[in-house]
Amino acid sequence: MDHPIVFYNSLTRRKEPFVPLNAPFVGMYVCGPTVYGDAHLGHGRPAITFDVVFRYLKHLGYKVRYVRNITDVGHLENDSDSGEDKISKKARLERLEPMEVVQYFTDRYHADMDKLNVLRPSIEPRASGHITEQIEMIKAILENGFAYEVNGSVYFDVHKYNREHHYGKLSGRILDQLMEGYRSLDGQEQKQNPEDFALWKKAEPSHIMRWPSPWGDGFPGWHIECSAMSSKYLGEVFDIHGGGMDLLFPHHECEIAQNRASSGKEAVRYWLHNNMITINGQKMGKSLGNFITLWEFFSGQHPELQQAYHPAILRFFILQAHYRSTLDFSNEALQAAEKGHKRLLEAFRNIQRIPPAANSSFDVGQIRQRCYEALNDDLNSPLVIAALFDAARLINAACDGKEMLTAADRDALQETFIVFFDSILGLVPLQAGNNEKLQEVVNGLIELILEFRQSARDNKDWAASDKIRNRLTRMGIEVKDGKEGATWALAD
Ligand code: ZN
Repeated sequence: MDHPIVFYNSLTRRKEPFVPLNAPFVGMYVCGPTVYGDAHLGHGRPAITFDVVFRYLKHLGYKVRYVRNITDVGHLENDSDSGEDKISKKARLERLEPMEVVQYFTDRYHADMDKLNVLRPSIEPRASGHITEQIEMIKAILENGFAYEVNGSVYFDVHKYNREHHYGKLSGRILDQLMEGYRSLDGQEQKQNPEDFALWKKAEPSHIMRWPSPWGDGFPGWHIECSAMSSKYLGEVFDIHGGGMDLLFPHHECEIAQNRASSGKEAVRYWLHNNMITINGQKMGKSLGNFITLWEFFSGQHPELQQAYHPAILRFFILQAHYRSTLDFSNEALQAAEKGHKRLLEAFRNIQRIPPAANSSFDVGQIRQRCYEALNDDLNSPLVIAALFDAARLINAACDGKEMLTAADRDALQETFIVFFDSILGLVPLQAGNNEKLQEVVNGLIELILEFRQSARDNKDWAASDKIRNRLTRMGIEVKDGKEGATWALAD
Protein backbone atom coordinates (compact mmCIF):
# COMPACT_ATOMS: atom_id res chain seq x y z
CA MET A 1 0.00 0.00 0.00
CA ASP A 2 1.49 3.33 -0.98
CA HIS A 3 -0.57 5.28 1.57
CA PRO A 4 0.91 4.60 4.98
CA ILE A 5 -1.64 5.24 7.71
CA VAL A 6 -0.91 6.26 11.26
CA PHE A 7 -3.50 5.67 14.00
CA TYR A 8 -3.44 6.92 17.58
CA ASN A 9 -3.51 3.77 19.66
CA SER A 10 -5.24 4.34 23.02
CA LEU A 11 -3.32 1.41 24.48
CA THR A 12 0.18 2.75 23.81
CA ARG A 13 -0.97 6.40 23.88
CA ARG A 14 0.91 7.28 20.73
CA LYS A 15 0.48 7.36 16.99
CA GLU A 16 1.61 4.15 15.34
CA PRO A 17 1.93 3.09 11.69
CA PHE A 18 -0.98 0.85 10.79
CA VAL A 19 0.36 -2.51 9.68
CA PRO A 20 -2.39 -5.14 9.48
CA LEU A 21 -1.60 -8.56 10.87
CA ASN A 22 -2.60 -10.29 7.68
CA ALA A 23 -2.76 -7.71 4.86
CA PRO A 24 -4.76 -7.18 2.71
CA PHE A 25 -7.24 -8.52 5.29
CA VAL A 26 -8.21 -6.23 8.17
CA GLY A 27 -10.38 -7.23 11.12
CA MET A 28 -12.26 -4.44 12.87
CA TYR A 29 -14.62 -4.71 15.84
CA VAL A 30 -16.73 -1.83 17.13
CA CYS A 31 -19.06 -1.92 20.13
CA GLY A 32 -22.58 -1.39 18.84
CA PRO A 33 -25.72 -0.18 20.56
CA THR A 34 -27.75 -1.66 23.38
CA VAL A 35 -31.15 -1.79 21.77
CA TYR A 36 -33.62 -0.64 24.41
CA GLY A 37 -34.20 2.89 23.12
CA ASP A 38 -33.70 5.19 20.14
CA ALA A 39 -30.17 6.06 19.08
CA HIS A 40 -29.02 9.56 20.03
CA LEU A 41 -26.25 11.86 18.89
CA GLY A 42 -23.77 9.95 21.06
CA HIS A 43 -24.48 6.81 19.01
CA GLY A 44 -24.01 8.73 15.78
CA ARG A 45 -20.39 9.65 16.44
CA PRO A 46 -18.78 6.18 16.77
CA ALA A 47 -20.96 4.87 13.93
CA ILE A 48 -19.82 7.66 11.59
CA THR A 49 -16.18 7.62 12.76
CA PHE A 50 -15.72 3.90 12.16
CA ASP A 51 -17.78 4.06 8.98
CA VAL A 52 -15.11 6.42 7.61
CA VAL A 53 -12.34 4.06 8.80
CA PHE A 54 -14.18 1.20 7.06
CA ARG A 55 -14.70 3.17 3.83
CA TYR A 56 -11.15 4.52 3.74
CA LEU A 57 -9.45 1.17 4.34
CA LYS A 58 -11.61 -0.37 1.60
CA HIS A 59 -10.74 2.52 -0.70
CA LEU A 60 -7.06 1.76 -0.15
CA GLY A 61 -7.65 -1.84 -1.23
CA TYR A 62 -7.87 -3.61 2.13
CA LYS A 63 -10.42 -6.36 2.56
CA VAL A 64 -12.08 -5.29 5.77
CA ARG A 65 -14.25 -7.54 7.91
CA TYR A 66 -16.13 -5.06 10.06
CA VAL A 67 -18.01 -6.55 13.02
CA ARG A 68 -20.37 -4.35 15.04
CA ASN A 69 -22.48 -6.08 17.66
CA ILE A 70 -26.02 -5.58 18.90
CA THR A 71 -26.28 -5.85 22.69
CA ASP A 72 -29.63 -7.44 23.28
CA VAL A 73 -29.31 -9.48 26.46
CA GLY A 74 -29.25 -8.77 30.17
CA HIS A 75 -27.06 -5.71 29.96
CA LEU A 76 -26.37 -4.63 33.52
CA GLU A 77 -24.38 -1.45 33.65
CA ASN A 78 -23.40 -2.21 37.19
CA ASP A 79 -22.81 -5.59 38.74
CA SER A 80 -24.63 -4.23 41.76
CA ASP A 81 -27.76 -3.63 39.64
CA SER A 82 -29.71 -6.56 40.87
CA GLY A 83 -32.60 -8.08 39.03
CA GLU A 84 -33.78 -6.69 35.73
CA ASP A 85 -31.87 -5.61 32.69
CA LYS A 86 -33.15 -2.66 30.64
CA ILE A 87 -34.66 -4.69 27.81
CA SER A 88 -36.56 -6.98 30.16
CA LYS A 89 -37.81 -4.00 32.09
CA LYS A 90 -39.07 -2.25 28.97
CA ALA A 91 -40.68 -5.50 27.78
CA ARG A 92 -42.46 -5.96 31.09
CA LEU A 93 -43.71 -2.36 31.21
CA GLU A 94 -44.98 -2.48 27.63
CA ARG A 95 -46.20 -6.09 27.79
CA LEU A 96 -43.94 -7.23 24.96
CA GLU A 97 -41.57 -10.12 24.43
CA PRO A 98 -37.99 -8.93 25.08
CA MET A 99 -37.16 -9.93 21.49
CA GLU A 100 -39.94 -7.64 20.24
CA VAL A 101 -38.24 -4.74 22.00
CA VAL A 102 -34.90 -5.81 20.52
CA GLN A 103 -36.29 -6.10 16.98
CA TYR A 104 -38.14 -2.79 17.18
CA PHE A 105 -35.11 -0.78 18.30
CA THR A 106 -32.71 -2.66 16.01
CA ASP A 107 -34.89 -1.73 13.03
CA ARG A 108 -35.02 1.89 14.17
CA TYR A 109 -31.25 1.93 14.70
CA HIS A 110 -30.73 0.64 11.16
CA ALA A 111 -33.11 3.26 9.75
CA ASP A 112 -31.21 6.05 11.58
CA MET A 113 -27.84 4.72 10.43
CA ASP A 114 -29.06 4.41 6.82
CA LYS A 115 -30.14 8.05 6.93
CA LEU A 116 -26.69 9.02 8.24
CA ASN A 117 -25.22 7.15 5.26
CA VAL A 118 -23.44 4.71 7.60
CA LEU A 119 -22.70 1.50 5.72
CA ARG A 120 -23.87 -1.73 7.31
CA PRO A 121 -21.01 -3.70 8.88
CA SER A 122 -19.89 -7.02 7.39
CA ILE A 123 -21.31 -8.92 10.37
CA GLU A 124 -23.72 -7.64 13.00
CA PRO A 125 -23.87 -10.37 15.64
CA ARG A 126 -26.36 -10.33 18.48
CA ALA A 127 -25.22 -11.17 21.97
CA SER A 128 -28.18 -13.54 22.50
CA GLY A 129 -27.12 -15.55 19.45
CA HIS A 130 -23.70 -16.19 21.00
CA ILE A 131 -24.45 -17.51 24.46
CA THR A 132 -22.57 -20.77 23.73
CA GLU A 133 -19.42 -18.86 22.75
CA GLN A 134 -19.67 -16.73 25.88
CA ILE A 135 -20.07 -19.79 28.10
CA GLU A 136 -17.07 -21.45 26.43
CA MET A 137 -14.94 -18.37 27.06
CA ILE A 138 -16.02 -18.20 30.71
CA LYS A 139 -15.13 -21.89 31.09
CA ALA A 140 -11.66 -21.20 29.69
CA ILE A 141 -11.16 -18.26 32.08
CA LEU A 142 -12.24 -20.49 35.00
CA GLU A 143 -9.91 -23.28 33.88
CA ASN A 144 -7.02 -20.84 33.67
CA GLY A 145 -7.74 -19.77 37.24
CA PHE A 146 -8.78 -16.17 36.60
CA ALA A 147 -12.40 -16.51 37.72
CA TYR A 148 -14.42 -18.10 40.52
CA GLU A 149 -17.97 -19.28 40.92
CA VAL A 150 -20.24 -18.23 43.76
CA ASN A 151 -23.76 -19.56 44.04
CA GLY A 152 -24.49 -19.79 40.30
CA SER A 153 -22.64 -16.61 39.31
CA VAL A 154 -19.09 -16.39 37.94
CA TYR A 155 -16.80 -13.43 38.66
CA PHE A 156 -13.52 -12.38 37.10
CA ASP A 157 -10.70 -12.35 39.67
CA VAL A 158 -9.16 -8.95 39.01
CA HIS A 159 -6.45 -9.30 41.69
CA LYS A 160 -5.27 -12.68 40.50
CA TYR A 161 -5.14 -11.36 36.94
CA ASN A 162 -3.32 -8.21 37.97
CA ARG A 163 -0.57 -10.21 39.64
CA GLU A 164 0.34 -11.80 36.30
CA HIS A 165 -0.76 -9.16 33.83
CA HIS A 166 -1.72 -5.54 34.14
CA TYR A 167 -5.34 -4.66 34.83
CA GLY A 168 -5.76 -0.98 33.97
CA LYS A 169 -3.26 -0.74 31.13
CA LEU A 170 -5.76 0.75 28.68
CA SER A 171 -7.36 3.27 31.01
CA GLY A 172 -4.14 4.04 32.87
CA ARG A 173 -5.82 3.18 36.15
CA ILE A 174 -4.07 1.46 38.99
CA LEU A 175 -5.82 -1.25 40.92
CA ASP A 176 -5.10 0.34 44.32
CA GLN A 177 -6.87 3.51 43.23
CA LEU A 178 -9.74 1.51 41.82
CA MET A 179 -10.15 -0.25 45.13
CA GLU A 180 -10.53 3.10 46.89
CA GLY A 181 -13.33 3.99 44.52
CA TYR A 182 -15.18 0.76 45.15
CA ARG A 183 -15.03 0.87 48.94
CA SER A 184 -18.13 2.99 49.22
CA LEU A 185 -20.28 0.83 46.95
CA ASP A 186 -22.42 -1.85 48.45
CA GLY A 187 -24.63 -4.57 47.07
CA GLN A 188 -21.64 -6.64 45.98
CA GLU A 189 -21.90 -9.23 48.67
CA GLN A 190 -20.97 -12.27 46.59
CA LYS A 191 -17.68 -11.03 45.22
CA GLN A 192 -14.34 -11.70 46.83
CA ASN A 193 -13.35 -8.15 45.95
CA PRO A 194 -15.53 -5.23 44.91
CA GLU A 195 -13.47 -4.56 41.76
CA ASP A 196 -14.12 -8.07 40.39
CA PHE A 197 -16.70 -8.10 37.61
CA ALA A 198 -19.41 -10.55 36.59
CA LEU A 199 -18.88 -12.96 33.70
CA TRP A 200 -22.12 -14.84 34.39
CA LYS A 201 -25.01 -13.95 36.64
CA LYS A 202 -27.45 -16.32 38.22
CA ALA A 203 -30.99 -15.52 37.08
CA GLU A 204 -33.59 -14.89 39.75
CA PRO A 205 -36.87 -16.73 39.08
CA SER A 206 -38.45 -13.53 37.68
CA HIS A 207 -35.65 -12.86 35.18
CA ILE A 208 -37.03 -13.40 31.66
CA MET A 209 -33.87 -13.57 29.55
CA ARG A 210 -32.06 -16.66 30.86
CA TRP A 211 -30.06 -19.55 29.52
CA PRO A 212 -28.84 -22.85 30.97
CA SER A 213 -25.13 -23.02 31.79
CA PRO A 214 -22.73 -25.27 33.74
CA TRP A 215 -23.42 -22.94 36.71
CA GLY A 216 -27.22 -23.06 36.44
CA ASP A 217 -29.73 -20.80 34.68
CA GLY A 218 -28.46 -17.30 34.17
CA PHE A 219 -27.28 -14.67 31.73
CA PRO A 220 -23.90 -13.25 30.70
CA GLY A 221 -22.24 -10.21 32.25
CA TRP A 222 -21.93 -7.03 30.27
CA HIS A 223 -18.36 -7.36 28.96
CA ILE A 224 -18.01 -10.98 27.88
CA GLU A 225 -20.12 -10.72 24.69
CA CYS A 226 -17.64 -8.46 22.90
CA SER A 227 -14.68 -10.70 23.77
CA ALA A 228 -16.57 -13.79 22.63
CA MET A 229 -17.95 -12.36 19.38
CA SER A 230 -14.79 -10.53 18.31
CA SER A 231 -12.65 -13.65 18.73
CA LYS A 232 -15.26 -15.82 17.00
CA TYR A 233 -15.37 -13.68 13.86
CA LEU A 234 -11.94 -12.04 13.80
CA GLY A 235 -9.71 -14.54 15.56
CA GLU A 236 -7.88 -14.46 18.89
CA VAL A 237 -5.76 -11.54 17.66
CA PHE A 238 -7.18 -8.89 15.36
CA ASP A 239 -6.31 -5.42 14.06
CA ILE A 240 -8.71 -2.70 15.21
CA HIS A 241 -11.12 -2.37 18.11
CA GLY A 242 -13.14 0.82 18.22
CA GLY A 243 -15.76 2.50 20.33
CA GLY A 244 -16.60 5.62 22.26
CA MET A 245 -14.23 6.86 24.94
CA ASP A 246 -16.95 6.22 27.53
CA LEU A 247 -16.43 2.49 26.94
CA LEU A 248 -12.70 2.61 27.65
CA PHE A 249 -13.30 1.80 31.30
CA PRO A 250 -14.54 -0.57 32.47
CA HIS A 251 -15.85 -2.22 29.28
CA HIS A 252 -12.73 -2.33 27.10
CA GLU A 253 -10.40 -2.81 30.06
CA CYS A 254 -12.44 -5.90 30.96
CA GLU A 255 -12.38 -7.13 27.36
CA ILE A 256 -8.57 -7.03 27.36
CA ALA A 257 -8.48 -8.98 30.63
CA GLN A 258 -11.02 -11.58 29.46
CA ASN A 259 -9.22 -12.22 26.18
CA ARG A 260 -5.83 -12.51 27.85
CA ALA A 261 -7.23 -14.70 30.62
CA SER A 262 -8.89 -17.11 28.18
CA SER A 263 -6.47 -17.32 25.23
CA GLY A 264 -3.27 -15.99 26.81
CA LYS A 265 -3.06 -13.46 23.99
CA GLU A 266 -3.33 -9.72 23.59
CA ALA A 267 -6.36 -9.66 21.30
CA VAL A 268 -6.39 -6.13 19.96
CA ARG A 269 -3.51 -4.46 18.13
CA TYR A 270 -4.95 -0.95 17.69
CA TRP A 271 -7.48 0.51 20.13
CA LEU A 272 -9.28 3.52 18.63
CA HIS A 273 -11.65 5.68 20.68
CA ASN A 274 -13.80 8.56 19.57
CA ASN A 275 -14.40 11.41 22.00
CA MET A 276 -17.76 12.48 23.38
CA ILE A 277 -20.36 14.97 22.19
CA THR A 278 -21.55 17.55 24.66
CA ILE A 279 -24.69 19.65 24.34
CA ASN A 280 -24.24 23.35 25.06
CA GLY A 281 -21.13 22.39 27.01
CA GLN A 282 -22.85 19.73 29.13
CA LYS A 283 -22.52 15.98 29.05
CA MET A 284 -25.56 14.36 27.44
CA GLY A 285 -27.88 12.45 29.69
CA LYS A 286 -31.51 11.55 30.01
CA SER A 287 -31.65 13.02 33.48
CA LEU A 288 -30.22 16.35 32.26
CA GLY A 289 -33.04 16.78 29.77
CA ASN A 290 -30.52 17.46 26.97
CA PHE A 291 -30.70 13.99 25.52
CA ILE A 292 -31.64 14.38 21.84
CA THR A 293 -32.29 11.33 19.66
CA LEU A 294 -31.27 11.17 16.02
CA TRP A 295 -34.90 11.00 15.01
CA GLU A 296 -35.52 14.25 16.91
CA PHE A 297 -32.67 15.89 15.00
CA PHE A 298 -34.02 14.70 11.65
CA SER A 299 -37.55 15.89 12.47
CA GLY A 300 -36.75 18.95 14.63
CA GLN A 301 -39.01 17.56 17.34
CA HIS A 302 -37.16 18.60 20.50
CA PRO A 303 -37.40 21.81 22.55
CA GLU A 304 -33.60 22.36 22.27
CA LEU A 305 -33.77 22.33 18.46
CA GLN A 306 -34.55 25.47 16.45
CA GLN A 307 -35.16 23.46 13.26
CA ALA A 308 -34.91 20.00 11.71
CA TYR A 309 -31.43 19.01 10.50
CA HIS A 310 -30.80 16.86 7.46
CA PRO A 311 -28.81 13.72 8.40
CA ALA A 312 -26.01 14.82 6.03
CA ILE A 313 -25.64 17.98 8.14
CA LEU A 314 -25.18 15.91 11.30
CA ARG A 315 -22.63 13.77 9.53
CA PHE A 316 -20.78 16.86 8.29
CA PHE A 317 -20.90 18.42 11.77
CA ILE A 318 -19.37 15.27 13.29
CA LEU A 319 -16.65 14.94 10.63
CA GLN A 320 -15.70 18.62 10.88
CA ALA A 321 -14.10 17.76 14.23
CA HIS A 322 -11.28 15.29 14.67
CA TYR A 323 -12.72 12.10 16.16
CA ARG A 324 -10.48 12.37 19.25
CA SER A 325 -11.64 15.93 20.07
CA THR A 326 -14.74 16.67 22.08
CA LEU A 327 -17.52 18.15 20.02
CA ASP A 328 -20.11 20.53 21.38
CA PHE A 329 -23.56 20.64 19.88
CA SER A 330 -25.46 23.90 19.60
CA ASN A 331 -27.99 25.10 17.05
CA GLU A 332 -25.46 27.73 15.92
CA ALA A 333 -22.81 25.08 15.28
CA LEU A 334 -25.22 22.91 13.28
CA GLN A 335 -26.47 25.89 11.29
CA ALA A 336 -22.87 26.80 10.44
CA ALA A 337 -22.32 23.18 9.39
CA GLU A 338 -25.39 23.41 7.17
CA LYS A 339 -23.96 26.48 5.39
CA GLY A 340 -20.53 24.89 4.97
CA HIS A 341 -21.95 21.65 3.68
CA LYS A 342 -24.09 23.50 1.17
CA ARG A 343 -21.05 25.38 -0.16
CA LEU A 344 -19.18 22.15 -0.78
CA LEU A 345 -22.17 20.48 -2.37
CA GLU A 346 -22.70 23.42 -4.73
CA ALA A 347 -19.03 23.48 -5.68
CA PHE A 348 -19.16 19.74 -6.37
CA ARG A 349 -22.16 20.21 -8.66
CA ASN A 350 -20.54 23.19 -10.42
CA ILE A 351 -17.27 21.53 -11.39
CA GLN A 352 -18.49 20.56 -14.84
CA ARG A 353 -19.58 24.17 -15.49
CA ILE A 354 -15.96 25.30 -15.46
CA PRO A 355 -15.10 26.28 -19.05
CA PRO A 356 -12.09 24.19 -20.14
CA ALA A 357 -8.91 26.21 -20.67
CA ALA A 358 -5.68 25.46 -22.52
CA ASN A 359 -3.68 25.59 -19.28
CA SER A 360 -4.43 25.31 -15.59
CA SER A 361 -3.69 28.13 -13.17
CA PHE A 362 -3.55 25.85 -10.14
CA ASP A 363 -2.40 22.38 -9.20
CA VAL A 364 -5.43 20.15 -8.58
CA GLY A 365 -3.25 17.15 -7.72
CA GLN A 366 -2.18 18.96 -4.57
CA ILE A 367 -5.77 18.93 -3.24
CA ARG A 368 -6.02 15.17 -3.62
CA GLN A 369 -2.63 14.80 -1.97
CA ARG A 370 -3.74 16.89 1.02
CA CYS A 371 -6.84 14.69 1.42
CA TYR A 372 -4.76 11.52 1.52
CA GLU A 373 -2.22 12.99 3.91
CA ALA A 374 -4.99 14.13 6.26
CA LEU A 375 -6.72 10.74 6.40
CA ASN A 376 -3.41 8.92 6.74
CA ASP A 377 -2.62 11.05 9.77
CA ASP A 378 -5.01 9.41 12.25
CA LEU A 379 -8.12 10.03 10.18
CA ASN A 380 -7.95 13.82 10.20
CA SER A 381 -11.31 14.45 8.56
CA PRO A 382 -11.38 18.21 9.38
CA LEU A 383 -8.25 18.68 7.26
CA VAL A 384 -9.88 16.82 4.36
CA ILE A 385 -12.83 19.17 4.65
CA ALA A 386 -10.47 22.18 4.74
CA ALA A 387 -8.81 20.98 1.51
CA LEU A 388 -12.25 20.60 -0.09
CA PHE A 389 -13.17 24.15 0.99
CA ASP A 390 -10.03 25.42 -0.75
CA ALA A 391 -11.08 23.45 -3.82
CA ALA A 392 -14.57 24.98 -3.62
CA ARG A 393 -13.08 28.51 -3.65
CA LEU A 394 -11.04 27.61 -6.74
CA ILE A 395 -14.05 26.06 -8.47
CA ASN A 396 -16.10 29.20 -7.87
CA ALA A 397 -13.25 31.39 -9.14
CA ALA A 398 -12.82 29.16 -12.22
CA CYS A 399 -16.54 29.37 -12.98
CA ASP A 400 -16.18 33.18 -12.87
CA GLY A 401 -13.16 33.05 -15.20
CA LYS A 402 -10.72 34.15 -12.46
CA GLU A 403 -8.86 30.84 -12.45
CA MET A 404 -8.23 28.43 -15.31
CA LEU A 405 -8.48 24.65 -15.56
CA THR A 406 -7.92 22.24 -18.41
CA ALA A 407 -10.66 19.70 -19.07
CA ALA A 408 -8.39 16.95 -17.71
CA ASP A 409 -7.73 18.87 -14.48
CA ARG A 410 -11.42 19.65 -14.15
CA ASP A 411 -12.19 15.92 -14.37
CA ALA A 412 -9.42 15.15 -11.89
CA LEU A 413 -10.88 17.64 -9.43
CA GLN A 414 -14.31 16.11 -9.85
CA GLU A 415 -12.79 12.70 -9.18
CA THR A 416 -11.24 14.05 -5.96
CA PHE A 417 -14.69 15.20 -4.81
CA ILE A 418 -16.26 11.87 -5.77
CA VAL A 419 -13.61 9.92 -3.84
CA PHE A 420 -13.30 12.05 -0.70
CA PHE A 421 -16.52 14.04 -0.37
CA ASP A 422 -18.85 11.29 -1.56
CA SER A 423 -17.39 7.80 -1.18
CA ILE A 424 -15.08 8.20 1.85
CA LEU A 425 -16.66 10.94 3.97
CA GLY A 426 -20.13 9.95 2.68
CA LEU A 427 -21.33 13.56 2.61
CA VAL A 428 -23.46 13.66 -0.51
CA PRO A 429 -26.98 13.57 0.88
CA LEU A 430 -29.19 10.64 0.12
CA GLN A 431 -32.42 12.08 -1.15
CA ALA A 432 -35.96 10.90 -0.80
CA GLY A 433 -36.37 10.77 -4.59
CA ASN A 434 -33.51 8.33 -4.91
CA ASN A 435 -35.31 6.12 -7.42
CA GLU A 436 -35.76 9.00 -9.83
CA LYS A 437 -32.14 9.96 -9.40
CA LEU A 438 -31.10 6.39 -10.09
CA GLN A 439 -33.28 6.28 -13.20
CA GLU A 440 -31.57 9.44 -14.44
CA VAL A 441 -28.19 7.78 -13.92
CA VAL A 442 -29.27 4.63 -15.74
CA ASN A 443 -30.59 6.65 -18.66
CA GLY A 444 -27.32 8.55 -18.87
CA LEU A 445 -25.33 5.32 -18.81
CA ILE A 446 -27.33 3.77 -21.63
CA GLU A 447 -26.84 6.93 -23.73
CA LEU A 448 -23.12 6.72 -23.03
CA ILE A 449 -22.98 3.07 -24.07
CA LEU A 450 -24.84 3.87 -27.30
CA GLU A 451 -22.33 6.63 -28.04
CA PHE A 452 -19.52 4.11 -27.74
CA ARG A 453 -21.45 1.77 -30.01
CA GLN A 454 -21.85 4.56 -32.55
CA SER A 455 -18.10 5.16 -32.63
CA ALA A 456 -17.59 1.42 -33.17
CA ARG A 457 -19.98 1.57 -36.14
CA ASP A 458 -18.24 4.67 -37.49
CA ASN A 459 -15.05 2.61 -37.45
CA LYS A 460 -16.86 -0.32 -39.07
CA ASP A 461 -16.17 -2.43 -35.99
CA TRP A 462 -19.35 -4.46 -36.43
CA ALA A 463 -18.30 -7.12 -33.92
CA ALA A 464 -18.09 -4.57 -31.09
CA SER A 465 -21.32 -2.90 -32.19
CA ASP A 466 -23.20 -6.23 -32.21
CA LYS A 467 -21.71 -7.28 -28.90
CA ILE A 468 -23.00 -4.10 -27.23
CA ARG A 469 -26.45 -4.52 -28.77
CA ASN A 470 -26.67 -8.19 -27.76
CA ARG A 471 -25.67 -7.45 -24.20
CA LEU A 472 -28.25 -4.67 -23.95
CA THR A 473 -30.91 -6.97 -25.43
CA ARG A 474 -30.11 -9.56 -22.78
CA MET A 475 -30.71 -6.89 -20.14
CA GLY A 476 -34.11 -6.16 -21.68
CA ILE A 477 -33.05 -3.00 -23.51
CA GLU A 478 -34.12 -2.86 -27.15
CA VAL A 479 -31.85 -0.85 -29.49
CA LYS A 480 -33.20 0.45 -32.82
CA ASP A 481 -30.90 1.89 -35.45
CA GLY A 482 -32.32 4.77 -37.45
CA LYS A 483 -31.11 7.57 -39.68
CA GLU A 484 -30.67 9.88 -36.71
CA GLY A 485 -28.65 7.28 -34.78
CA ALA A 486 -29.77 4.62 -32.35
CA THR A 487 -32.71 4.88 -29.98
CA TRP A 488 -33.56 2.58 -27.12
CA ALA A 489 -36.55 1.38 -25.17
CA LEU A 490 -37.23 -1.17 -22.49
CA ALA A 491 -38.42 -4.39 -24.10
CA ASP A 492 -41.99 -5.41 -23.17
ZN1 ZN B 1 -18.32 -3.95 23.51
